[in-house]
Amino acid sequence: MPFSANVADLEGSATLAVAALCRRLRAQGRHILDLSAGEPDFRTPVFAAEAGIAAIEQGYTHYPPVAGVQPLRDAIAQQLSRSFGRNIDAAGIVVSTGAKQALFNACFSLFGPGDDVLIPVPYWTSYPELVKLTRARPVLVAPKDTAGLRITPADLERALTPATRGLLLNSPSNPTGVVYTLAELEGLVRWAADHGITVISDEIYGRICFSTERAPGILDLDESLLQDVVLVDGASKAFAMTGWRIGFSWSSLERAAVFSDLQSHITSGASTPAQHAAVAVYRDEPRVAEAVHAMVRVFRHRRDRALARLGELLPDIHAVTPDGAFFLFLRMDPFFRPDMNGSEALCAWLVEQAGVALVPGAAFGDDRYVRLSFATSEDNIVEGIARMAEWYRGLKGDG
Ligand code: PLP
Repeated sequence: MPFSANVADLEGSATLAVAALCRRLRAQGRHILDLSAGEPDFRTPVFAAEAGIAAIEQGYTHYPPVAGVQPLRDAIAQQLSRSFGRNIDAAGIVVSTGAKQALFNACFSLFGPGDDVLIPVPYWTSYPELVKLTRARPVLVAPKDTAGLRITPADLERALTPATRGLLLNSPSNPTGVVYTLAELEGLVRWAADHGITVISDEIYGRICFSTERAPGILDLDESLLQDVVLVDGASKAFAMTGWRIGFSWSSLERAAVFSDLQSHITSGASTPAQHAAVAVYRDEPRVAEAVHAMVRVFRHRRDRALARLGELLPDIHAVTPDGAFFLFLRMDPFFRPDMNGSEALCAWLVEQAGVALVPGAAFGDDRYVRLSFATSEDNIVEGIARMAEWYRGLKGDG
């Protein structure tokens, strides 16, 4: 059956391919340690879940206003205002079905055929596909400093074409956990502003940051740099609410109106009870901060434990210490060999031989790496690394 040109280049998710392989091996009775998770292994805070239940019981079960229920848009605007020390207008907020839809709204409204959109490598796996759906061209930009996994204005400059319209930024980064400093962020946004390029800044992991209360974000920048930016964030990661599907964008009022018009024809807006649940996590209440801090403390402890175990058992693996999100990006190409020559083959081998599921770096545009998620129990992480070390000893024994 023929499909339209809209999806001609669309690629399936490599992360889902790992999940499918895990399921198959588990069905065969194998014990698989899953270190591939892309979501917090924590429960949604009880007060948010209760707000969702109350919303259903009170009859908030009909279509929402397309851009979001007013209490949520207000709560998000107030939270951003508090966090960044500036006055954020709720009219610029559009609530969406996860950050993913906010990204889609922004990309689809702002880019189209003939446009180039810069995507720093490694990237979150959906960015190139989102750009392709708009029929613009994803332009993948690898950092010259390949060890640091950070893009610089010089890297962007090399990729610039007369058709460049957009730049997708993601800090803290999935898959690397790299957090750009405010100065680095400012350099990138200033470069984009100087070239008339729109920045979409995906800050979904902003509050999962280990060295500071939150990662620097575009709203920390001077007003003059915010004329052509779209901020994307949401409740999924910081509040362990992935299944509620609540994300949002903040942009100019003109753009917010178009994003809202677009989503009116696609989803009509995010689930109404889920929006009421999310109001509870954007309030200025100590229990909200406590819930985030408790989770971030555990992630930091697991990160340190994982890095220590890797250092002891697999010192040949190079890992950049992540300052945010919940992933380790591990450089694995020294382990490649003719019959296991690439991250996908290596991950397939690891899950089949060692029972450890990781996500191939190829899914993020860098085939030299694999992504290990520490959004799972410490026992699983420690056992997973031990199994990897055992596998590696066997590999060396093989010659
Ligand atoms: N942006 C990044 C960098 C992500 O890692 C994810 C989810 O994995 C999303 C956006 C999507 O977030 P949501 O689940 O709110 O759609």
